[in-house]
Amino acid sequence: MCVAKRVFLMCEFCGAVSRRGFCGGVLAVALARPGRLLEPGLHVRSTGAGRSVAVTLDACPGHFDPRVAAALVARGIPAVIFVTATWMQWNPQGLAYFLARPDIFDLQNHGARHLPAVLGSTPVYGLAPAGTLEAIRAEVLDGAAAVQKVTGKRPVWYRGAAGLYSPEAIPVIEALGFRVAGYSLNSDQGASLPAAIVARRLEAARDGDVIEGHINQPHRDSGAGIAAGLAGLQAAGARFVGLETAYG
Ligand SMILES: [Zn+2]
Repeated sequence: MCVAKRVFLMCEFCGAVSRRGFCGGVLAVALARPGRLLEPGLHVRSTGAGRSVAVTLDACPGHFDPRVAAALVARGIPAVIFVTATWMQWNPQGLAYFLARPDIFDLQNHGARHLPAVLGSTPVYGLAPAGTLEAIRAEVLDGAAAVQKVTGKRPVWYRGAAGLYSPEAIPVIEALGFRVAGYSLNSDQGASLPAAIVARRLEAARDGDVIEGHINQPHRDSGAGIAAGLAGLQAAGARFVGLETAYG
């Protein structure tokens, strides 16, 4: 995978946002990473009948984006929402909105404090990493407990902040009983892209794609693009599925 693609796998706190479009800056960010980090992919199984895609949206620390949430409900499109415990604390009304529609929103674990599952102390796109395996376990387990507290169900999936992982972290997360939620289509580059571009990226989704985007930035243009792109995908006949058939 090219460096230019990797660099945009981030959340709203990622420092690389301001560097987009500049290959030199992209490369500098990549080289500044603490060691070799993994960026897991994820797809869903093709049914052989048109496009099947899974929608996954991150609720990092931030706010609730009603444009995206209402579009999902209005269109009956199921989505996996990766929530941080922090986001749930800050957005009780948004959380209530999700919990009222379990047929649409499947809440999964984005960590307790939005700390990347990365060893060491070097920031990852501006985010302080968890730092140690013990801290990674705490980030994962405390995030899972927060999800279970509100849903009554232990989450199956964990997506780390920034979507990047130290190689040593992944078996630790899996040993805790969670699957690491990668993705194959980064729709909004950390909620940094203009709406029209986000919509086009979504509408270009391929059969089996696991789409990643954000639902925590109501004041950015990207969210409007997610809503428009989902409408376009649906109009084009795409099927929206969960992660039950997902494979990495
Ligand atoms: Zn995030």
